[in-house]
Amino acid sequence: MNGKVLGVDLGASTARAALVDRNTGEVIAAHKQLLSDRSPAAVVDVVAHALREVAGKDLESFDRIGVGVCGQCLGSTGSVILAPNLGWRDVPFGPMLSRAIGGARVRLANDLAAIAWGENRFGAGKGFSDVFVVFVGSGIGSGLVLGGRLNEGSGGVAGEFGHVKVQPIRPATRPRRCGCGAMSCLEAYTSGMNVAARVREDLDQGISSLVRELVGGDLSCINAGVVEAAYGRGDPYAREIWQEAGELLGTALANFVTVLNPARLILGGGVWLGCPLLATLVREAFEGKVSRSATLGFALENAFLGDEAGVIGAALLE
Ligand SMILES: [Zn+2]
Repeated sequence: MNGKVLGVDLGASTARAALVDRNTGEVIAAHKQLLSDRSPAAVVDVVAHALREVAGKDLESFDRIGVGVCGQCLGSTGSVILAPNLGWRDVPFGPMLSRAIGGARVRLANDLAAIAWGENRFGAGKGFSDVFVVFVGSGIGSGLVLGGRLNEGSGGVAGEFGHVKVQPIRPATRPRRCGCGAMSCLEAYTSGMNVAARVREDLDQGISSLVRELVGGDLSCINAGVVEAAYGRGDPYAREIWQEAGELLGTALANFVTVLNPARLILGGGVWLGCPLLATLVREAFEGKVSRSATLGFALENAFLGDEAGVIGAALLE
């Protein structure tokens, strides 16, 4: 299997495996499977099956496989330290998977780290040695390539961008607890899941907004796209929520670009790509706050590789 590498993108609800051309980043074969049982042993079975689907009888000829996991990983031991969406804590997933597929070394990384590596090798960050990748979707995460190398931090948990602390700017916004347990994380105010939750809470309290009309009164249908639509139609409440989210996201991004001086800031995820009006507010706040000296030769780009970035990056992990 000369020139071909195997990668896995392990999310909270699906596992995706792909055979990737090492020299072009092209996905040669891919297989995606839903996770019905998230116990580590069951997930090992699903991932091993997905790998056999794409590599066939050649699976045992691979000596290493890269896996991006939706959680904190310690690449050096192959352990998943914490993956709330899988319900895992200290799971030796690398060694377990290695045993199930005939002994290949398994290299784990956080899924956003894998995406950052994929975008750096063959996507929007190609050709640059310093790239900061942030995804704003149901949650918020980031990955860092610094000096041409994937930066996972001394303890393997660099890039927890969703959990930097912020001060809301809107007087009516109450302090919110994040899914990680801490108060006032960026993610608690601006990720898709949290935007939906806070708008639902406000409407439950009787706040009037076009959002209520757009979901036909069914508050369980609220998501970031609905807030975006209400903002687009001039709804004052949606404007407050989006201005705050834009300000908080744009300021946090500007702070990191000021510190890291990347050549590219690459943004992706369902909320970023699906809410262009919010994205404009984020860009405006970013441009107003970022240090001028950090913007020489700098560009903010949208992620390029789409759903395949994670699996491509995982396959290419070193
Ligand atoms: Zn948090």
